[in-house]
Amino acid sequence: MKHLIIGAGAAAISAIRTILKEKPGDSIVIVSQDEEVYSRCMLHKFISGERDAGGINFINDDILNSPQIQWIKGKTITRLDTAAKTAYAGEEAVASGDTVLIATGANSVTPPIGELRTAKNAFGLRHLSDARAIVECAKGAKKIAVIGAGLVGLDAVYGILESSPGKEITVIEMAPAALAINLDAHAAEAYQRLFEKNGVKFHLASKVVNTQGDGKGNITAVDFEDAGGKKSVPCDMVIMAVGVRPAIAFLDGCGFELTERKGLKMSDYLETSIPGIYAAGDAAGLSGIWPNAQKQGEMAAYNMTGTKWAYDDKFAIKNTVNFFGLLSLSVGAINPQEGDEVLVREDRNNYRKLILRQGVPVGVILQGEIGGSGFWLHLIKNRIPIDKLGKSPWKVSYADFYGTEDTGEYKYVV
Ligand SMILES: Cc1cc2nc3c(=O)[nH]c(=O)nc-3n(C[C@H](O)[C@H](O)[C@H](O)COP(=O)(O)OP(=O)(O)OC[C@H]3O[C@@H](n4cnc5c(N)ncnc54)[C@H](O)[C@@H]3O)c2cc1C
Repeated sequence: MKHLIIGAGAAAISAIRTILKEKPGDSIVIVSQDEEVYSRCMLHKFISGERDAGGINFINDDILNSPQIQWIKGKTITRLDTAAKTAYAGEEAVASGDTVLIATGANSVTPPIGELRTAKNAFGLRHLSDARAIVECAKGAKKIAVIGAGLVGLDAVYGILESSPGKEITVIEMAPAALAINLDAHAAEAYQRLFEKNGVKFHLASKVVNTQGDGKGNITAVDFEDAGGKKSVPCDMVIMAVGVRPAIAFLDGCGFELTERKGLKMSDYLETSIPGIYAAGDAAGLSGIWPNAQKQGEMAAYNMTGTKWAYDDKFAIKNTVNFFGLLSLSVGAINPQEGDEVLVREDRNNYRKLILRQGVPVGVILQGEIGGSGFWLHLIKNRIPIDKLGKSPWKVSYADFYGTEDTGEYKYVV
């Protein structure tokens, strides 16, 4: 059997490993726009100059040189013939398979504001090519405006701070706090303070409304509105980090059923509406983080090779943040709903928040010392109640969930 995998990112590589393990006799053809395999989570290290392209490769073996594998790199697929399961780049039929995995990740969203979509000095940060363009433009830039204070925006800022300190960097964010997807406002503020200590300015609760230009295709200022009215940040470079959208535009008109939000409609087995064609990772639109992309790639590959495995890992999203040596980790819900119990513990170096819903942990944030996160992930994912244990939730451990059988053997008792 032959498998066609479009993409060479986290989901694709994990699918390839699974296929090789499950069906070593099958062949795999990979087609990717990228010429290199690299971790997008480490792009800031490329921007900072700490690592080159080879240094952010996340494959530490020569799996792509396996004899069953053909990798066609640097090729952008523009259409999929779903009946023939053949991928096209323009008129060229590039590759076919008996099964197909769409693992094309996502692309940065660029809002249609001012010249953001067309300016020569405005960049998203998703691909290594973006990081290369940012490094090049940052060399001559003195004032940099970053739109979006999520993980990607702050990654870009951090990379630039490390490689070329002394730039005037201003972050403009629509939400009232930075890192709103990853952390609560309190934990995010600790990072904001660290960035501010390093000279970065923040405008939170601020909406970008326009740009000003030099008439030669460069943005010279970003206009925004906050509670105080209209303001402007002068700049000679803009980085946009306001979100991503699954990279599935090339499937338009190919016959896939879509969800209301224009994502691919998929079964629990990560199969699209077209039998034999699967999707995993950011392209599948189920989550936007690395570990989930890997897991989905693995699961899709099991299903592609005939072992049914339903995707059931949708709820326990795990995020990590690490800037200036301050570590944070969040699992599950980060903001409580009405009726939830919220427990907070804080000292000079650590912040811990636990959200309990009817005695069941549904979310945790650990900042500073993040040990024990695997335990919380386990409780949250498996919806294990802890209210009947009769002890402080902070003292609960794996040991609380074991009893002894008559034989003296340990037994899991939840
Ligand atoms: C700056 C940044 C920082 C991040 N930090 C974190 C983090 O700290 N933690 C975390 O969990 N997640 C992080 N993420 C998100 C994480 O990188 C993604 O969730 C993950 O890369 C998704 O993997 P994927 O395989 O679905 O897609 P990708 O890694 O995006 O791979 C997509 C592949 O598809 C190829 N492709 C795309 N379109 C086509 C086409 N038309 N034809 C052929 N090939 C195509 C691309 O070339 C690429 O090889 C970060 C992302 C960015 C951009």
